[in-house]
Amino acid sequence: MAGERPRMVAPARRTKGAPHGTMTRYARGCKCEPCRQAKRDYRLELAARNARTA
Ligand SMILES: [Zn+2]
Repeated sequence: MAGERPRMVAPARRTKGAPHGTMTRYARGCKCEPCRQAKRDYRLELAARNARTA
């Protein structure tokens, strides 16, 4: 098939060199302060979205 493209796929295990302070880096196993903060922000954002949707 022509024009076949992979969709937006984000393989978490393949992300290389993700900067600290990002959810990606945290998911990679980093638990430094900026990365933990990123996780907080991420969860807060998700909660906010859920609150809006619900
Ligand atoms: Zn980190």
